[in-house]
Amino acid sequence: MSLLAVGTVAYDDIETPYAKQSHVFGGSAMYFSVAASSFSQVSLVGVVGEDVRRADLEFLRSRGIDTSGVEIQPGKTFRWGGRYETDWNTRTTLFTELNVLEHFDPKLTPAQRKSRFVFLANAKPRVQHAALDQIEQAAFVMADTMNLWIDIDKPDLLKLLRRIDAVVLNEEEARMLTGEKNLLKAAGAVLGLGPRYVILKKGEHGAFLLGADVHFSIPAYPVDEVYDPTGAGDCFAGGFMGFLASQGRVTPGALRRAMLMGTCTASYCVEGFGVEALARLGADAIPSRYDQLLSIVTV
Ligand code: AMP
Repeated sequence: MSLLAVGTVAYDDIETPYAKQSHVFGGSAMYFSVAASSFSQVSLVGVVGEDVRRADLEFLRSRGIDTSGVEIQPGKTFRWGGRYETDWNTRTTLFTELNVLEHFDPKLTPAQRKSRFVFLANAKPRVQHAALDQIEQAAFVMADTMNLWIDIDKPDLLKLLRRIDAVVLNEEEARMLTGEKNLLKAAGAVLGLGPRYVILKKGEHGAFLLGADVHFSIPAYPVDEVYDPTGAGDCFAGGFMGFLASQGRVTPGALRRAMLMGTCTASYCVEGFGVEALARLGADAIPSRYDQLLSIVTV
């Protein structure tokens, strides 16, 4: 298995200033896997309820994603509802129904335990630790988190940061975690907590990567029209990790290119509800935006 993703699979109710859709196929690890599958073979570990639509699992398999680690348990799939304001950056969680996620205990197969690249998508830190405990010798482990866990599960999250290679955070999470207002200082403080690399996402203003051997900053790919930003962070991580796994080696150059790939992948995610825009991409879509983004940032 080249790339393993562990996290949530969900049905989301999404409200934007222009539209409303319920029961959209979502979840942190689901978005990640779909994004990463443009670059690498992905194995997804998560849990769903008996209400899961077979067509949704079939869609994942049609992208070459190994879904044998998606447990189907009695009960309902995790559900989340969110509403965006006109600036797209302000998001309010309307409801969270844990359902089968409440007792999720990831179990990796012998092949999944040997994964070289691992993404611990946003989930309770206990779940992220449980997955990591089963990994034998990964080349690169990256984790995501959210304000909720920084708020209610910080000790467990801090322990996790000492066990991983990289963490991906948005501005609010980086400031909350470190108490630093300045983002560069916040990123430096995150490195002091354990990981070798930190990626800070700044929404429409782009993202930067900081580590001992690399400091790289890029703008977001400019899109004309945003339909639904849900999952953009997971898709960024999917493009980033999917590309890194396809290269097999983590070098400063590969990390920089992975940042561009993540950015371009996320730019497609926001152009449709759920993963619909990603699902209809042709093979040359991401490489073409990669070239455009490169020309935008090159003197
Ligand atoms: P993002 O927009 O990148 O923050 O990801 C949105 C996805 O995260 C949605 O599809 C939700 O189902 C999922 N999500 C929302 N709340 C949580 C949570 N507490 N834990 C894990 N995943 C969540």
